[in-house]
Amino acid sequence: MTPDLLDDGARRMAAWREREAAGRTLSGGREAAFGRPVRAGDLDLAHGRILYLEDVSVSFDGFKAINRLSLDIAPGELRCVIGPNGAGKTTMMDIITGKTRPDAGTVFFGSTIDLLRHSEAEIAEMGIGRKFQKPTVFEGLTVYQNLELALKADKGVRASMFFRIDSRQGDRLAEVLQTIHLAEHVNRLAGTLSHGQKQWLEIGMLLMQEPKLLLLDEPVAGMTDEETMRTAELFLALKGRHSLVVVEHDMSFVASISETVTVLSEGAVLAQGTLAQVQADERVIEVYLGR
Ligand code: ADP
Ligand code: MG
Repeated sequence: MTPDLLDDGARRMAAWREREAAGRTLSGGREAAFGRPVRAGDLDLAHGRILYLEDVSVSFDGFKAINRLSLDIAPGELRCVIGPNGAGKTTMMDIITGKTRPDAGTVFFGSTIDLLRHSEAEIAEMGIGRKFQKPTVFEGLTVYQNLELALKADKGVRASMFFRIDSRQGDRLAEVLQTIHLAEHVNRLAGTLSHGQKQWLEIGMLLMQEPKLLLLDEPVAGMTDEETMRTAELFLALKGRHSLVVVEHDMSFVASISETVTVLSEGAVLAQGTLAQVQADERVIEVYLGR
């Protein structure tokens, strides 16, 4: 906002580069980025699942958007979810993040946290980050300021007025910049970035909050082929440290990142397996061709 803040960003980056050159920060780039992998803390991962949905249903005006949906995501997993328009993919994310309350079913984060007992804000706070389809970065702020803002997002007005990022947060900001390929653009106004770069910046803003689970709704829509490829690299780098659930229609993108693919149709799981397996499944072919 102010020239002061801009200078501050540049100054911190310079300081970080100096430390980097002196070999005192993580020069391993991605390997070292975000330090700790997804693991048990307050979050109980003992049963090998970070997210668990069972028999979840929700109706809108009598229409079953989600119909006895069950889903199981392992810590560090990168799960792709595909399915025709209206299958309930976005609604599934609304339920996980507390935006929509299901009529029935169970939704657990780890094996002990019942997400249905928590508000949308609490769910975000406990480490579930969500990326909507459209980028929602602050166009009039720099890349640096957007990332910094992500740290204060949960603070009150008074607290954020006096907020200064500490050195650990400064280091993480620098790491995130590398990961999202925007280190060279740290002082650019977000409004001047390409569509793909804005998407990466928004993912960076989520990463600043150290989410354990990331939900990404059609992240490569509207990206160039090259941006799509770099996004695939980015997700592969995040996998393991974070769990990711990625909804995407771009099958070449899904092919480049996927292990297990879940196919949703009419609010439930129709098929699950490798991309090749689900693509060969008659029922899957049917729902894609039948519309
Ligand atoms: P997808 O993301 O797979 O394309 P959605 O989850 O957006 O599908 O939508 C599933 C179905 O639920 C659609 O028929 C949609 O119109 C309906 N739906 C989603 N949210 C609402 C809502 N808030 N009110 C009424 N209908 C909704
Ligand atoms: Mg959708």
